[in-house]
Amino acid sequence: MTPSRNNWTKEEIMAIYQKPMMDLLYEAATIHRERHDPNVVQVSTLLSIKTGGCPEDCGYCPQAARYHTNVEGNDLMSVQQVKAQALRAKSSGSSRVCMGAAWRNVKDGPEFDQVLEMVRTLNKLDMEVCCTLGMLTENQALRLAEAGLYAYNHNLDSSEEYYKEVISTRAFDDRLKTIENVRKTNVTVCSGGIIGMGESLEDRAGMLVALSTLNPQPESVPINALVAVEGTPLEDQKPIEIWDMIRMVATTRIVMPETQVRLSAGRTEMSREGQALCFFAGANSIFAGDKLLTTPNPDVNDDMKMFELLGLVPQKPFVKMEQPKTVEAEDSQWQALGEKPKWSRPGHIIERNKEASLKK
Ligand code: SF4
Repeated sequence: MTPSRNNWTKEEIMAIYQKPMMDLLYEAATIHRERHDPNVVQVSTLLSIKTGGCPEDCGYCPQAARYHTNVEGNDLMSVQQVKAQALRAKSSGSSRVCMGAAWRNVKDGPEFDQVLEMVRTLNKLDMEVCCTLGMLTENQALRLAEAGLYAYNHNLDSSEEYYKEVISTRAFDDRLKTIENVRKTNVTVCSGGIIGMGESLEDRAGMLVALSTLNPQPESVPINALVAVEGTPLEDQKPIEIWDMIRMVATTRIVMPETQVRLSAGRTEMSREGQALCFFAGANSIFAGDKLLTTPNPDVNDDMKMFELLGLVPQKPFVKMEQPKTVEAEDSQWQALGEKPKWSRPGHIIERNKEASLKK
């Protein structure tokens, strides 16, 4: 078996990415088959539990309050609403629910307590529970772990260099710090990025260096294709070619052989043939549901038809790691510390972000 490595260089990764397509596909598929069942694909459902009104300036995101998009903001959902949606997702083949809140960082208080209750409730449905809530302290990560969280998503988005071209309200190091905090618990790490934001090949490789040199590597790596939403600074970006997605998936599989590589945003623009090549190249997870937070996603029935056509089966929950135990709120050993961590705010000017926020 090809051994896992944590010392990939940008040059090595760029060389892999640029291999002749047939060689790249063969190598990625070989590594994939050594470690995974090629006919099993994990299905996750992404649920926006608090939508819009975000104070951050991520150039790709329609939920940033400063941009003029059609996203309607919603307050935090109730535990019952989340439970009902999770049950629906489970009945259509999802083994994981990922709850996303448009927050800069988690704040101790009633809303976080409500999210902890959602985690407890969904873990009792025997589903893998994931959250993506922004930056997180160690104490908050421990409280989520105790509630039964299986995974925490915190994307690096791009290379450290290109990150500064897309976001000015926090720094790349803040992302790494949150991942480090999650690693102090048993919660698995989900972290990936977006291609098609105008980054170079070097930036794509740089992002994979940052992810693959984490030790341990993330258990899940979502690869998103930018969905250019009107009103965001990246609204005019041209869609990427399917071949870019296939190359990115294959390269991710080669440098992170154990991880679940997730085909994430942008699947509505991909043909079944294109997605099939991504699965062949090592993708073994998708997001299901007609929306990914606020952007469109293929209909669940279409996905199930695609699975049937390709002979794929959804992965059962808790295959990679045991189901975490849920500790009830009254038995918790961790108190809310009410910390006010100093997450950075670089505040450099990104012209296109500034222009988009000033547009009427
Ligand atoms: S990506 Fe997340 S942090 Fe950035 S603006 Fe959107 S909701 Fe906020």
